[in-house]
Amino acid sequence: MKIQVLSDDMASRIAAGEVVERPASAVKELIENSLDAGATEIFVLIEKSGTSLIRVSDDGEGMAPEDLNLAVERHATSKLKVDEDLFRIATLGFRGEALPSIGSVSKLQVVSRAPNAPTGQKVCVEGGRKGEMLPTAAAFGTSIEIQDIFFNTPARRKFLKAPATELSHICDAVNRMALAYPGVHFRLEHDGRTVADYVSVNDGKDRLYQVFGREIAKGLAAFDWRQGELAAHGFLSSAPLSFPNARYLYTFVNRRYVRDKVLTHAVLQGYETLLMKGQYPAVVLFLDLPFGDVDVNVHPAKFEVRFRRQSDVHEAVARAIRHALRQEAKEPAPRGETISSNYFSGVREAALPYGLLTRPAQNDPPRAYGDVFVLPPRPERQEGFYSSMRVLGQILGCYLVCASSQGLALIDQHAAHERIAFEKLRRQMDAGKVAMQNLLIPQTVRLSAGEMMLLEQKLDILQRFGFDLEPFGPDAYAINSVPALLPEGDYSQVVRQMVADLAEVDTSGKLREHLEDRLATIACHSVIRANRMLEMDEMRALLNELDQIDFATQCPHGRPVLIEISRDELERMFKRIV
Ligand code: ADP
Ligand code: MG
Repeated sequence: MKIQVLSDDMASRIAAGEVVERPASAVKELIENSLDAGATEIFVLIEKSGTSLIRVSDDGEGMAPEDLNLAVERHATSKLKVDEDLFRIATLGFRGEALPSIGSVSKLQVVSRAPNAPTGQKVCVEGGRKGEMLPTAAAFGTSIEIQDIFFNTPARRKFLKAPATELSHICDAVNRMALAYPGVHFRLEHDGRTVADYVSVNDGKDRLYQVFGREIAKGLAAFDWRQGELAAHGFLSSAPLSFPNARYLYTFVNRRYVRDKVLTHAVLQGYETLLMKGQYPAVVLFLDLPFGDVDVNVHPAKFEVRFRRQSDVHEAVARAIRHALRQEAKEPAPRGETISSNYFSGVREAALPYGLLTRPAQNDPPRAYGDVFVLPPRPERQEGFYSSMRVLGQILGCYLVCASSQGLALIDQHAAHERIAFEKLRRQMDAGKVAMQNLLIPQTVRLSAGEMMLLEQKLDILQRFGFDLEPFGPDAYAINSVPALLPEGDYSQVVRQMVADLAEVDTSGKLREHLEDRLATIACHSVIRANRMLEMDEMRALLNELDQIDFATQCPHGRPVLIEISRDELERMFKRIV
């Protein structure tokens, strides 16, 4: 016999490895339990970055003695009653694994008192061995203590990162839950210092101020998009606020924080061409949909989900973001303070020594802190913003110099033209009719056998862009017409490029993105590149056109169209003020 059945103890430890990867995972599981128990106050106390002590106390519904006794057993849960429940999970927990897993790799103590119980009860588990349940004095609610996590799994302990890193993971775990539950008071204490204290607030926006601090929170605007049973809402940054990584991109599904490629992709796609390559927005996305439409039972740590209608979800999220950004571009939300300062008072400072949280100085102009660079709020664009400018002239063959209501405005005419062409083309595409120009003499594009096959399948898509193509012998297509926007030239290059891109298109989501990319390429091709002196009426026409389109402050590659220098900034430059 080679095969042996694992001992219970070994099986638990293996299972625990998936649920409790590091102290922060235990914190996450305990907070989930508190939230499931309806807590309004959750207090997390940490010592030595969680390695020596983690204690999570709540004022939730608590457990009756019989329940407490069962709670630390494997696969014991109060959250699934009938089989079907697994397919419509409404709680954060459901696997009945967290407490026993934690108990198998630490010294665990659970104290709980249900509302009408005369006293509390306590049960301990050490390295998987459960002790006797005993009455004890306790407040209503539950308090769970984890000592010496991984004391019996040295390998896992060795893999832990530097204390500051582990602590930052714990902060992240708390922050994510806090974002999704603004009505709950969260407090995090580490080695006797308060790291976070987020009092209960009614408005999710106020929670952003608590968690992110003012500098970032004030740059985020609320959005809310509903379509049938699906709601995508939350907060997002518009163009001026961006980051070199995705750390301010949070996605929640039915208030559960998840890391999901589909959602992240959809969010980024919603931004389309508004961000420069390699830049990420700050987004807190809450996606709410019927419990039955999402499977959360994918991974023990419950960070992943599967959507029943993935492409619908993708589509809806991208659309929600795009819509919100369009609104923002039209009527930027006021970016001033909306909150009294005690929400982000001294406590955030306490975290600074660990380099975990950034606390920018108040009222400061653009500044880099950590890896975050925040530009000042965009000047609010009025109706007729561009056309109200006084054109002073053109310099270097490519910049318009104008007087705006704020001061001096410089406009990159190439970027402006690109954005105008892009928006025109997009509008035409959305309306299903792209203006085409017929070629008097069709051009031919030679293609490989693979490209031929691809093109045959994608002809209709190319048609939507305004390309009319037809087979021309075994290894070529004839180009009969092209988008009217394209200037005269050799079109085979553009067609070949598009075929190559379409090869990678599979899901509808990706398609849209590729179309956008292609649109940007066409827009780019459509602009006469050579520097050119513009007549006054051409410049005026350009400004008028910019007022007609959305996103007129960025070219389709995310470069700015406009740079404005205000009176203040000018005076500072001339040292009239400091
Ligand atoms: P799950 O959350 O998946 O059900 P856990 O092992 O995390 O599994 O918890 C087991 C059970 O213990 C829960 O179903 C719940 O009934 C109970 N429980 C755990 N933590 C708390 C708490 N903070 N307050 C009330 N009940 C709790
Ligand atoms: Mg749980």
